[in-house]
Amino acid sequence: MSVTAAVDAACIFCKIIKGEIPSFKLIETKYSYSFLDIQPTTEAHVLIIPKYHGAKLHNIPDEHLADILPVAKRLAIALDLNVESPEGVGYNLLQNNGRIAHQIVDHVHFHLIPKRDAETGLVVGWPSIDTNFEDLGQLHKKLLKKLEN
Ligand code: 5GP
Ligand code: ZN
Repeated sequence: MSVTAAVDAACIFCKIIKGEIPSFKLIETKYSYSFLDIQPTTEAHVLIIPKYHGAKLHNIPDEHLADILPVAKRLAIALDLNVESPEGVGYNLLQNNGRIAHQIVDHVHFHLIPKRDAETGLVVGWPSIDTNFEDLGQLHKKLLKKLEN
């Protein structure tokens, strides 16, 4: 399996892909590489990374991104997280972009984090803005215009 040309010699995750830094590898494909996080929030906290160096999601070619969700699915099943009920064990898929959004390693990575109880795994909290349909409608129009290009 070849590694794509986009590599940053100083990047810790590029080094993991190349085997220069050891990792607990799980699945490797032509486009992606997955391994256990060394500072897990819970047991079997996994990272899935594109074999292409880029700091943020928009820097990564589509073929690499398209490979990642099927890998996440295989891992979720292997980790026995595929519960067919809204109750019981769950999981989060998290991908941070930029320091303000809690990104520490500047090589795109998706966290697959089992959610087994309230205390471990990802703890999510976000503010909600009161619904204003006029504002939503204007935003929608603006975005559709941008998406036309
Ligand atoms: P971020 O906050 O950037 O989304 O998350 C970076 C993640 O990478 C953290 O959960 C951290 O524990 C993990 N990490 C950082 N360095 C290494 C490493 O050398 N090996 C592994 N397996 N995980 C790492
Ligand atoms: Zn890298």
